[in-house]
Amino acid sequence: MIQFDVDLAVIGSGFGGSLMAMIGQRMGFRTVLIDRAKHPRFTIGESSTPIANMVLRDLVQRYKLAGIEPLCQYASAEQAYPDVTLGIKRGFSYFWHRTGEPFQPQADRSNEWLVPGNPDDSTADAHWLRRDVDQFLFKQARANAIATMENTDVTDVTRDGDRWCVAGYHSEEPVRIYAQFVLDASGGTGVMLKALEIPVSVDCMKTKTRTLYGHFTDVGNWFDAYQQAGGIVEGHPYRCDEAAVHHIIEGGWMWQLQFRNGVTSAGLVLDQDRHPYHPDRYPDEEWHLIVERYPTLAQQFAGARMHEETFHLVGTDRLQRIAERSAGAGWASLPNVGGFVDPLHGTGIAQILCGIERLAAIWEHSWGRDDLEAQLDAYSRTVRTEIEFIDSLLHACYLSMDDFSRFKSASRLYFTASSMYQRRFRQGRIQPEHAFLCADDDLLQNAVTQVVDRLTEEAQSPPEQRAEAAEFDRWIDGLVEPLEKND
Ligand SMILES: Cc1cc2nc3c(=O)[nH]c(=O)nc-3n(C[C@H](O)[C@H](O)[C@H](O)COP(=O)(O)OP(=O)(O)OC[C@H]3O[C@@H](n4cnc5c(N)ncnc54)[C@H](O)[C@@H]3O)c2cc1C
Repeated sequence: MIQFDVDLAVIGSGFGGSLMAMIGQRMGFRTVLIDRAKHPRFTIGESSTPIANMVLRDLVQRYKLAGIEPLCQYASAEQAYPDVTLGIKRGFSYFWHRTGEPFQPQADRSNEWLVPGNPDDSTADAHWLRRDVDQFLFKQARANAIATMENTDVTDVTRDGDRWCVAGYHSEEPVRIYAQFVLDASGGTGVMLKALEIPVSVDCMKTKTRTLYGHFTDVGNWFDAYQQAGGIVEGHPYRCDEAAVHHIIEGGWMWQLQFRNGVTSAGLVLDQDRHPYHPDRYPDEEWHLIVERYPTLAQQFAGARMHEETFHLVGTDRLQRIAERSAGAGWASLPNVGGFVDPLHGTGIAQILCGIERLAAIWEHSWGRDDLEAQLDAYSRTVRTEIEFIDSLLHACYLSMDDFSRFKSASRLYFTASSMYQRRFRQGRIQPEHAFLCADDDLLQNAVTQVVDRLTEEAQSPPEQRAEAAEFDRWIDGLVEPLEKND
């Protein structure tokens, strides 16, 4: 039997778990970091954002995690850690495809939208090849003298007096970890949610999507495909494929993220009402059936092969979930244990980092004090608020996806929320109790609710009764402008 007696047990060594373990250790906690997998391992969730990098930098400086600082930007990471595979990300690119037709760039750029994330290559964000980034952070944790255990599957967590007993197996050998605090960073597995029988629901969520994804090599370059189709790249704020590329298709979209080692992460996210899930259908077969309907995408993937990491595409059922609680006496979970909405606009990494910052502040101020439980309750409520808010934001985008102009208008709410959060953060106005994307801002919430209500109503009425695109966009202006002016 392997046994530990620690202050902090972290279950799951993705980037979130490793960072939390290092922060805990900086605060003087005896820490153990456990994972059932062994690094390097494949995982998804790869596109960082300006908020993610801003918060990561803050964490690194606050908790003196110097070795991690270069990771806050593509250029510095590439220079300091050339072995950690990344891809350059200058922003979010969106292209609107018509079923059965090659992509045809328009002179007025009405079927494309390039949203800059940063002004130049030197300040660019990155796509993280999670296999490398997570392994790098795990090694950093180990280098910081944190006890780490891979190949260790946690099977149960129980309360034993004033401590937790985290039980599992390291290969065949039983493991018992006695800990004052358990941090659940196990992603969708939700180890603590299962152990404490915390309900996780799906039906209360509005977004209804599933995904097929994998890593490919030899994918044709989108920048070239765009130009071959007659697209003019002069005037683009950045090279359109050095971005989180979103190809909007009927009832869903495809993401493409290019890494500098020639790997492309690609996935289809599908509205489940339009593309119902069939558990007996092979993901590879469905992928080909859908991609073949879009000749320019089909051409990009004509010579593509699955990368050795993923021999087959991964296919999921509905992605959405939300837990009733994300924390309680002596435990907390990272936001993506507490719930998940959808990869559209890439909120995942940033939300986790904001959650890490909030939890770290709670440990710093309330560890060992009477108000710890109340602070954890507040954290738990904030995670739920964030997930519900992201659900509404993204639902609005899905409701408008058939009409690119409306989709752009609806997506502006996300970019407004993102700008508000960045501005408040830089001005020092984000306190630990504040939510990611200003999800707790009443005016912003109200604006998003109005958009969802209007789009829901429109979806139920004949197209001729819908407002013109320009009128709808002016209406969005009317919602967004006061938010920005009064902030
Ligand atoms: C299709 C898809 C696309 C996404 N795209 C994006 C994106 O572009 N940008 C973005 O920001 N986010 C994205 N996300 C969200 C993102 O994947 C997650 O937010 C992120 O991976 C979570 O990282 P993590 O470190 O918290 O957890 P994970 O990376 O999930 O790590 C959890 C770890 O826990 C371990 N574990 C699980 N159970 C146990 C157990 N019982 N015992 C011990 N260890 C255990 C696992 O082995 C794993 O290593 C996407 C998600 C999906 C599903």
